[in-house]
Amino acid sequence: MTETRDTVILGSGCAGLTAAIYTARAGLNPLVLEGHEPGGQLSITTLVENFPGWPEGIQGPELIENMKKQAARFGASYQLAHLSSVDLKSHPYKLNTSAGEIHTRTLIIASGASARWLGIPSEQALIGHGVSSCATCDGFFFRGKPIAVVGGGDSAMEEALFLTRFASKVTLLHRRDAFRASKIMLDRAMAHPNIELRTNTVVEEVLGVEEQSVKGLRLRDVTNGEKNTLDVEGLFLGIGHEPNAKMFTGQIDLDEDGYIRTQNNVFTTHHGAVVAGVYACGDVQDRRYRQAITAAGSGCMAALEVEKYLEEHGR
Ligand code: NAP
Repeated sequence: MTETRDTVILGSGCAGLTAAIYTARAGLNPLVLEGHEPGGQLSITTLVENFPGWPEGIQGPELIENMKKQAARFGASYQLAHLSSVDLKSHPYKLNTSAGEIHTRTLIIASGASARWLGIPSEQALIGHGVSSCATCDGFFFRGKPIAVVGGGDSAMEEALFLTRFASKVTLLHRRDAFRASKIMLDRAMAHPNIELRTNTVVEEVLGVEEQSVKGLRLRDVTNGEKNTLDVEGLFLGIGHEPNAKMFTGQIDLDEDGYIRTQNNVFTTHHGAVVAGVYACGDVQDRRYRQAITAAGSGCMAALEVEKYLEEHGR
């Protein structure tokens, strides 16, 4: 017979690992399922300067590795597995994963959000050949080359600033003339001698599909429709993220953009009624704050609710 776990945590980013630390310390031996982006977004970022307790900042991957070790010390275990579907209609809940079927009394969904793409064919054709959504992973390959970053939020600013370490020049392309980025990040990007900001500009085509490497961008100015070509050898997307919650469609309530709807911070619902024992935390349910510290906070809340649920309903 398949063993039934007390709790399974879907996702090993900041929210999932905080939930793992708390549930592990509560003696619940949590199983953390690590999907296609182990460690979540912190694992592909650089210096984190706003996580309390690190006056000089800490590298994102190091922060994640520390959390992982911290949870493991108290009994959390980790498994690389992709969740394909869930059955939340009968209890214990059934999870169909690439590592087999898992049964659990409670589930913490901390599956985060994945990088968004422009979706134009030439961009898709050149992913891994000069088109990337991860400056930290791929910046190194663009030493001495001109590159472009798309986006007007903090991610785009952070990517652009990081990429100046390698690129000869970074052109930041944004579709509007107002920025979502925080003032401090925008000011840093604007003040950098190797970053040029171009607003009201969209990418129509990435050139170089036949050569299988980025040879430039065809751009359009949205104010007057004028087109021009930008000579770059790399394109980085910094245009936000999509929540990883599709596998819960029809079983728990999602909003119009696919984020999990939660009540009282972490409770999931189906047709508005609470789904007992299933909690969501971190970026998969947070379209407003999306910070490492808020993800950690909601991971803690989800873990405490799991403890309460198991106390009330038995293990
Ligand atoms: P975001 O704030 O949602 O910004 C996404 C940007 O991409 C927007 O400027 C948006 O343009 C643009 N965009 C979206 N779809 C596009 C498309 N199809 N084509 C062209 N442009 C497109 O996302 P984010 O920058 O990833 O930030 C998410 C959250 O994480 C924020 O709360 C942010 O503060 C936080 N964050 C913080 C840090 C830090 O503090 N170090 C670093 C990264 C992220 P519009 O403005 O026109 O919609």
